Amino acid sequence: MPAKSMEDLVSLCKRRGFIFQSGELYGGLKGMYDFGPLGVELKNNLKSAWWRSMIYERDDIEGLDSAIIGHNKMFKYSGHTETFSDPLVDCKDCKTRMRADHMKDQSICENCGSTNVTEPRPFNLMFKTHIGPVESEDSIGYLRPETAQHIFANFKNVVDSTSRQIPFGIAQQGKAFRNEIVARNFIFRVREFEQMELEWFCKPGEDEKWHEYWLEQRLSWWEEQGVPREKIHILDVPADDLAHYSKRTFDLEYEFPHGVDELEGIANRTDYDLGNHTKAQKDYNITAKVHENNESTTKMAVRDPQTGETYIPYVIEPSAGTERGVIAVLNEAYTEEELEGGNSRTVLKFPKHLSPIKVAVVPLKKNHEGIVAKCKQVKQELMKLGIGRIFFENTGNIGKAYRRHDEVGTPICVTVDFDTIEKDDAPVTIRDRDTMEQTTVPASQLAEHIRKYFA
Ligand code: ATP
Repeated sequence: MPAKSMEDLVSLCKRRGFIFQSGELYGGLKGMYDFGPLGVELKNNLKSAWWRSMIYERDDIEGLDSAIIGHNKMFKYSGHTETFSDPLVDCKDCKTRMRADHMKDQSICENCGSTNVTEPRPFNLMFKTHIGPVESEDSIGYLRPETAQHIFANFKNVVDSTSRQIPFGIAQQGKAFRNEIVARNFIFRVREFEQMELEWFCKPGEDEKWHEYWLEQRLSWWEEQGVPREKIHILDVPADDLAHYSKRTFDLEYEFPHGVDELEGIANRTDYDLGNHTKAQKDYNITAKVHENNESTTKMAVRDPQTGETYIPYVIEPSAGTERGVIAVLNEAYTEEELEGGNSRTVLKFPKHLSPIKVAVVPLKKNHEGIVAKCKQVKQELMKLGIGRIFFENTGNIGKAYRRHDEVGTPICVTVDFDTIEKDDAPVTIRDRDTMEQTTVPASQLAEHIRKYFA
């Protein structure tokens, strides 16, 4: 049962330390959020799951972690400086700014209904800065609006250093910055966010097959994160709405609390990007309409081992927003349950690999020397399993501790009582988040039990 509204999620996120408005103490920075103690764990777990599925579980993708500020020529030839803009309409009466492509009627203000609005005007979404002490045309750099361009720019470096053959991929996660005209819907549309992007390089002609393949892969990955297929609508983007570089795009649109909206885009970018950045464009049979480039020093081409022909690979790009993923995962995990006796509880039923806290170790009596010492010993042992955060919960009220950990999605609470410290190898109590069942295991078998549970 997902959350009833975005407000449910926003309030839980703030109350329990997942996500805070950035700069709140000075009135807040619009479109910027900070991930709190539990949010950073959740986000890192989601990113790790993606990284594991892309890099560790496969043998045909390499990782990259590039600079955040990019060369102005990279964004010139990628087309971003010229075209990375959304047309914008300003209402002269209520001062609201709107994206023209989001308006029902571009001559009427969406906020106040006034017709006193400007013509749509281009607005560049990139954050510009200067590199070094002198501000000049040459010192301009941009905060990357996507992680993708650095992947293309490093294509040859990766091919040469790893001897990769086509098809193969380069994956990257990290910050992206877009000076969005209107930031809204909590962390759905923000100005600083993270992306998880794969650029999959393949032979022209095999691109359509790979496009379908990645659609399927990505849907099953989201399912493993607790986001079921039936909640994801696949939009085969109509030709009129395609980005200029795209031959075909599937948008994975999820049923967010604010409506059905894009979670991930999977685009067939053809040879547009490598074609833009390559040296000696005329030597290749580039199919995309690229920017003429006489400044690149690198040929972005590979040799076909069968035919001996040199060509620019095509690219399939699954590109997911980490923040949008965090909302989807939180929304799917969010459950309100009626309990016996007229009580209720809120539980985040995360898949266990995503839970911010894996195990809470709870003393039956707060600050009791013997019990606390045993709890700390249990925590040390469990930490050695390397499964993530093990939390010492010294609040003293078992019922409250269980509720608190339900609400943040901790799959297991381990309670240490007087028996545990008084008797040899006495049991600890294990309480399951979803069933609320309590079982006991001898303290000496706890670590093995937990290892198997998270395996
Ligand atoms: P939208 O149409 O929603 O602006 P987009 O099509 O411009 O998104 P892409 O350029 O395809 O987005 O970026 C890939 C992914 O990055 C998106 O699917 C989304 O998950 C994420 N993303 C893009 N812009 C933002 C943003 N401002 N805030 C949070 N995530 C974003």
